[in-house]
Amino acid sequence: MTDGRCADAVQVVAPNGVTWTRIPDGRSSPADLLRELAQLTMNHVEREWDWWQEGRAQQEHDRQWAILGEWDNGASRRKPHQDPEASAEAFLAECDRRHEVEKQQRAARATELYSKERESLRLELMRTEADAAFFAHVLAAPASKEQQHAAERRMAERQTAARELRSKLGDPEDVIDHDGYYPAERRTSSLSSHMTVWRHPMLRELHKAKQRKRFKTLLAMRPPAPASMCSECQAPSQWHEYALSLCLFRPAPPAGSPAEKLARLLPGWWRRCSACTAYQLEHQWGGTLALPDFTGEQWRAMLPPMLREIFAPDPPKAKKAVARPNRWR
Ligand SMILES: [Zn+2]
Repeated sequence: MTDGRCADAVQVVAPNGVTWTRIPDGRSSPADLLRELAQLTMNHVEREWDWWQEGRAQQEHDRQWAILGEWDNGASRRKPHQDPEASAEAFLAECDRRHEVEKQQRAARATELYSKERESLRLELMRTEADAAFFAHVLAAPASKEQQHAAERRMAERQTAARELRSKLGDPEDVIDHDGYYPAERRTSSLSSHMTVWRHPMLRELHKAKQRKRFKTLLAMRPPAPASMCSECQAPSQWHEYALSLCLFRPAPPAGSPAEKLARLLPGWWRRCSACTAYQLEHQWGGTLALPDFTGEQWRAMLPPMLREIFAPDPPKAKKAVARPNRWR
């Protein structure tokens, strides 16, 4: 006993080798501490994915810090003259400084590398690949021979177009947006928003509306890997193969604009992600663009079970825009 603490104090060694000692009136167990330390190092989406209840994040935060507050790792004795408030300020100042440096680097990157043409080509590529995947899903259970032949022809045409776009574009992951962000950076941010702005409110709505099956299905969905998210909206990319988008932050088109008129004529057009299959719109235009015998029922049948349960029929009071093929003819 070299520092005045009791010899029988409860101690535990964390995986990083640091020894933690419980304060005399602490009640949490070493396992509680290790669990909370592990949570601190988790990605915030993995940690908060199922914290859908109102106020849950704050409760978890309070509970976590109540446990951490019962343990001491000796850091305060190693730096006896450090003022906690000054340390917090220094930490925030350092965060601000790094943020500013990153902002400048991004702006310089955008000035040097941004190309509107490459950005458009990349979007066209993603859309074309989503189209090809859509026709492949149709071909899993075509409604008629005529539909099968049309889907085969269109899938092959889209696959060829995608190959040509890829060879013209090079690596799509190198294509930055006009703010200098790479697609991978935008996907990470998309996943976080998917959880906080769509998943959690939707779970609350479904719970309130007592839609138990739909609620359980959405709750059972595990966090997608960031790489599987769309870089242009807040949906997993795979949803675009079924004409489902999640453009959470897109405002309505300006009143009186051509975009507003087109949005009225073509429901779903404005809310659709630029990387999503365009088939829904083509179907609405009709003519040779619509697959023979394709119906809303067929669309619902071809959805993976989780998407079918969540999106068909419409969920209650979905707060955010979800473009879905609700006007099949
Ligand atoms: Zn998208």
